Amino acid sequence: MHELSICRSIVDIVDRHAAGREVRIVHLQVGALRQIVPDTLVYCWALMNADTPLASSELRVESIPGAIRCRPCDRRQSLAESVLICGNCGGQDVEIVAGEEFLITTLDLAEA
Ligand SMILES: [Zn+2]
Repeated sequence: MHELSICRSIVDIVDRHAAGREVRIVHLQVGALRQIVPDTLVYCWALMNADTPLASSELRVESIPGAIRCRPCDRRQSLAESVLICGNCGGQDVEIVAGEEFLITTLDLAEA
């Protein structure tokens, strides 16, 4: 379960940025192509932080759907079925433009 090691690295980053302040909410964006299960991540977060200052914090995961862009015709479409073919011209010269995010967007901290 790689969610556990992911959680560990999120904890590291959060600890560094919070610098001792109480963390309320950690906002995380995860692309759908990352093969990370948001629910599992939230579960691991609670489990890992049970006896730490982060026990009262909440991990809020926003899932970003995958998207591709066709280079020749510039059409952007969602990557619903993992098909790397342009729906407009049928071309396969496409690039992934969304879905690979892994980003802590905001930390909600308690007032100092
Ligand atoms: Zn195209």
